Amino acid sequence: MTESSSKRPSDFIRHRVAEDLKQNKNEGRVLTRFPPEPNGYLHIGHAKAICINFGIAADFGGLCNLRFDDTNPTREEEEYVEAIKEDVRWLGWDWGDRLYYASDYFEQLYEYAVQLIKKGRAYVCDLSADQIREYRGTLTQPGKDSPYRGRSVEENLDLFKRMRAGEFKDGSRVLRAKINMASPNLNMRDPVMYRILHARHHRTGNRWCIYPTYDWAHGLEDSIEGITHSLCDLEFENHRPLYDWFLDQLGVHHPQQIEFARLNLTYTVLSKRKLRELVEGKHVSGWDDPRMPTLSGLRRRGCTPEAIRNLCERIGVSKTDSVVDMALFEHIIREDLNKTAPRVMAVLRPLRVVIDNYPQDKVEEMDAENNPEDSSMGSRKIPFSRVLYIERDDFREDPPKKFFRLTPGGEVRLKHAYYIKCVRVVKDKQTGEVTELHCTYDPQTRGGWSSDGRKVRGTLHWVSAAHALEAEVRLYEPLFIKPNPEDEEGGSDFKANLNPNSLEKLTSCRVEPSLQGAVPGSRYQFLRHGYFCLDTDSSAGALIFNRTVSLRDTWAKIEKAQKKGQKNQKFLSPDGQ
Ligand code: ATP
Ligand code: MG
Repeated sequence: MTESSSKRPSDFIRHRVAEDLKQNKNEGRVLTRFPPEPNGYLHIGHAKAICINFGIAADFGGLCNLRFDDTNPTREEEEYVEAIKEDVRWLGWDWGDRLYYASDYFEQLYEYAVQLIKKGRAYVCDLSADQIREYRGTLTQPGKDSPYRGRSVEENLDLFKRMRAGEFKDGSRVLRAKINMASPNLNMRDPVMYRILHARHHRTGNRWCIYPTYDWAHGLEDSIEGITHSLCDLEFENHRPLYDWFLDQLGVHHPQQIEFARLNLTYTVLSKRKLRELVEGKHVSGWDDPRMPTLSGLRRRGCTPEAIRNLCERIGVSKTDSVVDMALFEHIIREDLNKTAPRVMAVLRPLRVVIDNYPQDKVEEMDAENNPEDSSMGSRKIPFSRVLYIERDDFREDPPKKFFRLTPGGEVRLKHAYYIKCVRVVKDKQTGEVTELHCTYDPQTRGGWSSDGRKVRGTLHWVSAAHALEAEVRLYEPLFIKPNPEDEEGGSDFKANLNPNSLEKLTSCRVEPSLQGAVPGSRYQFLRHGYFCLDTDSSAGALIFNRTVSLRDTWAKIEKAQKKGQKNQKFLSPDGQ
């Protein structure tokens, strides 16, 4: 198999894989894996790792495994396993019958540890966790040998066996690799391989009371599965010598580890631990809150898997850390939804309009195209009648200059319908608030076009009051007020940067009747308001829409500024008003 035929540009990882194939390394096989720890829901950073692992396998005619790295019994749950599977599938990838769990390898890993002990390359250490840390030294100071480092093979074998048998208390002993306490790489200073933990594991139950560390297990899991290329983020670069050491000592299959930069995104955090804090602290409604950067949150918000894959493709694979501007992500979401989302009319903050010269009981069906970008999406009928709702913001009694919407005496076009002119304004006597407009329509302008060539500057969306459906609409702003919420100024934690206005619920919105029977998850463009998705909590009697993104796209401007070398990280407010 030679380099992929796909149009995807090559990158340093693909280049490397192509080289390996040229030299017939691994007998021409390509096998990658995505190895999440089931301790939370996947976020968009994981999508990058998923697209790299599954994407490269697909490009080179190889395969990609899904493996749960479930070596830590205290933090992991079945709920996360199921959510992760759903998310990977939703992104469009398929692991076939290759779903694995690190816990399936516990026995094998134990055997490997025994082999290392027999080679004199691992020992049981009785230092406490604090002491181990103390003995490890620092970046500038070498570590000190543990007093237990010289234990005989026999003693180590005996103690390790008894650790497994449950004879010792949590934290009383560990198994460590015997490498080099003076290594400039701290990971090589006799790292811990096993700790005692009398905890129930979500898959192995109480069978084990010693659990392998991530560092001990990770490279070996890849080896056991015959992975050819272990693609992981740069965090693991310093761990590679350790993984290599374990593999070489054991003389087992040696995957090639290659590191890439993690995805970072402005105005959000991409760490399961921090996202869990938001969920547990009830700062959001759950892992799938539409404000969360989780794949389930993005899905609920209305983002498509295509948009996420497009983002991953667009940012490519690099070895230098960078932060992706949220405005770019939103731009890509818009690009995608623009092509596929049917247009509908929705009034978020309704103002009643009575057309005085329109017959009381008359209803007309107006033709409306579903997507001007795609005529194959057809058209629909929208009822027009004497009483309508328009957007409150679309009327101003005292209009500023260049206000082309409705004003007293002014004329506008109602999209797909007629020209109307405002003839009278009704106000609440006490508050002075405008409660109703009286207008007249011009029957000669059906469809929204005048036959005498008379022009109007403004075109408004509207719904027929008698026919419209009530809906709740949720508008979102970024979850954090700072581009980098992890910039923990003055020692305050990232939660101090939460945006108190990240959610606005509008409860008396009106949407056109064609949305009757819409299925949760359906995506629409509400004219002039942005893209919206019907929430999973919706029911026939209670429509709830999430705004995915507004229509205002700031990316082009930001990109231009960036090209000029200017630092501009302005975030697009999702509120397009
Ligand atoms: P988190 O810090 O969010 O818990 P993690 O790296 O601990 O992330 P894992 O479950 O171990 O989470 O991640 C599975 C894979 O996803 C790893 O191979 C890791 O390299 C990759 N990954 C995690 N976060 C990112 C990110 N922001 N960008 C790219 N890859 C990521
Ligand atoms: Mg992790």
